[in-house]
Amino acid sequence: MRCRKCPTRAVIKIPRHHTAFCGPCLTEFVRTQVQRAIKTERMFTPDDRILVAVSGGKDSLTLWEILLALGYRADALYVDLGIGGYSARSREKVEQFAQQFAEPRQARLLVHQIKEEEGAGIRELADLVRRPTCSACGTIKRYHFNRVALANQYDVMATGHNLDDEAARLLGNVLRWQEDYLHKQGPNLPASVEGFAKKVKPLYRLTEREIAAYALVNRIDYIVEECPMAKGSKMLLYKDVLNRLETESPGTKQTFYWRFLERQANQTSTAPSMQDTDRTVLQPCRLCGQPTTADTCMYCKMMARAKSALV
Ligand code: SF4
Ligand SMILES: [Zn+2]
Ligand SMILES: [Zn+2]
Repeated sequence: MRCRKCPTRAVIKIPRHHTAFCGPCLTEFVRTQVQRAIKTERMFTPDDRILVAVSGGKDSLTLWEILLALGYRADALYVDLGIGGYSARSREKVEQFAQQFAEPRQARLLVHQIKEEEGAGIRELADLVRRPTCSACGTIKRYHFNRVALANQYDVMATGHNLDDEAARLLGNVLRWQEDYLHKQGPNLPASVEGFAKKVKPLYRLTEREIAAYALVNRIDYIVEECPMAKGSKMLLYKDVLNRLETESPGTKQTFYWRFLERQANQTSTAPSMQDTDRTVLQPCRLCGQPTTADTCMYCKMMARAKSALV
């Protein structure tokens, strides 16, 4: 199989685009897709300071590498969840990456340790407040990400969510007709409260497979194992179903998600969006200042319960 852009042997076939690329042409294709996402969704400009949430996995490390290669001012935050060997191994990958790719470009890695800051790892905290681990984890990660962005005056927060993640999330929301979640899903989420950074997903035009191939070609070493808490998650099931559809009918994932974005854009231009409505409802938490619909945010409530259970 030959590359469609040059006479070299291809390393990846991309059926949804009826094409195949060699390593260097794949690198160019992936970076162009990211640049297009940034421009069409007006995510940020070269003057903005970006904070990338990194986990040690292929998506977040690849995103950080691409932003640096494209010349953006991107630092990263790693939140150490304290999940035994998994957290130790993923942190090692992030630190190795930072040494190899980020430090030579004067980019910084910030690390927050949940055990040190909250007094217990994510599993213990979730048990203390009787919440599923992933739900407690989501609240804690969001809190730290927001807090660090605010304290260090970053303009934008970027995550490594890709087309597979977004299509699977959309499928989950549609299957349950969770309309308020549908309204809040998108690659560019404006700041919910004045003074907070917006959230963007520059990899939304790329599949997991394309990102894994990019990481391999560009020698990005990442943690391959999934977080042990992800076992049995609905998201993995939705991804599997979408992959089966994609094999039978290439382009399904892209059409499903991109058509949704088109519909959302049309609706936004004719009616006030849910995000706009949210902005009027959200207010700073009285304890920590994070955006919340109540008087005290979910994080502060959760930590207060955990602390009283620890005493
Ligand atoms: S799988 Fe759950 S616990 Fe693990 S990182 Fe994801 S949200 Fe957190
Ligand atoms: Zn080529
Ligand atoms: Zn709070």
